[in-house]
Amino acid sequence: MTGFATRAIHAGQAFDPTTGAVIPPVYQTSTFVQEHVGGLRAGYEYARGTNPTRDALQELIADLEGGSHGLSFASGLAAEDAVLRGLLRPGDHVLMGNDVYGGTHRLANRILAPWGVELSTVEMSDVDAVRAAIRPTTAMLWLETPSNPLMKITDIEAVAALGHEHGTVVVVDNTFASPALQRPLALGADLVVHSATKYLGGHSDVLGGLVATGDAEIAEKVGFLQFAAGAVSAPWEVFLTIRGIKTLQIRMRQHSDNATAVADALLGHPAVERVYYPGLPEHPGHDVASRQMERFGGMVSLALHGGAQAARTFAESTSVFQLAESLGGVESLVNYPAEMTHASVRGTELEVPDNVIRLSVGIEDEADLVADVRSALARLA
Ligand SMILES: *Cc1c(COP(=O)(O)O)cnc(C)c1O
Repeated sequence: MTGFATRAIHAGQAFDPTTGAVIPPVYQTSTFVQEHVGGLRAGYEYARGTNPTRDALQELIADLEGGSHGLSFASGLAAEDAVLRGLLRPGDHVLMGNDVYGGTHRLANRILAPWGVELSTVEMSDVDAVRAAIRPTTAMLWLETPSNPLMKITDIEAVAALGHEHGTVVVVDNTFASPALQRPLALGADLVVHSATKYLGGHSDVLGGLVATGDAEIAEKVGFLQFAAGAVSAPWEVFLTIRGIKTLQIRMRQHSDNATAVADALLGHPAVERVYYPGLPEHPGHDVASRQMERFGGMVSLALHGGAQAARTFAESTSVFQLAESLGGVESLVNYPAEMTHASVRGTELEVPDNVIRLSVGIEDEADLVADVRSALARLA
């Protein structure tokens, strides 16, 4: 099995040996009978440690990201917490992009920093700035590309090489691209994290987080934290995530095509100040994105000339695009970051301009999506 779409459907998904069921069963059980004391059947003991349904997803994400180990958690932030606490110690410094997911920054700033891990942020798309921001104590670089919501692109290969020169672990949050479009491990990253809540699940019906790595030592440390702290994913959530991933490639194609059409419709409209989409040739990260992504994904942001009032009006004027936080589902969503997803980072360097709108472009008919944004823009005239 070499093709991505084939692996998305089959990796870790062998039919059930007892019944021949095509789909890995939902093992809704907390514990497993032992044949004699310590005599485990197929290695299963207690479900916080291992569960066959979760194993299937862990094998699947490891395969799709081109790693050797996968770990599945109750949410993206649970996965991030296990990575941060599993790999960092008090006195270590973690360097993050200055536009990482707000929850990532909050976790590092409010939970890890009081524990003694130092946090600073940098413009990750500027390799020279990253070089200057690395300290002797820097143990981890954490980047997100495309970033949220301004769709900045970081050169994963360049930053990973720089991190390794300085002996740091390089983590990429691959939530926005998904492994269908971008595979950071092949570009030199040590570890990939996902909010599986977004494109991997793909249907806005499950919370989940995933980690993939090709490094056995990293997997052992993060896996130990998964077991010791216990934020594992439940079998039903795992089932839904696996089901979602089977159509990942075909969805990402449609998300990307629809997003391109929406970005084109926004471009040049008199109410629109700027369109943020890495697929546009004028996007400053377009060349790097073309190199490291297969397509440009389903997220598009725009800035409006009319300021906060126009942005709020736009967000409340669409009908196919529903007003909600989150992203990555088959249905289109509109978000007003300044007062929704990014309200908690107002006044920090993660603050988002108040005339910016973020669109998660779904896989509905392109013509309906384009008509919807056009009519919302018409209300601003
Ligand atoms: C949503 C999101 C997270 C957090 O994931 P949860 O599943 O909500 O815990 C992390 N990173 C990015 C880029 C996200 O969009």
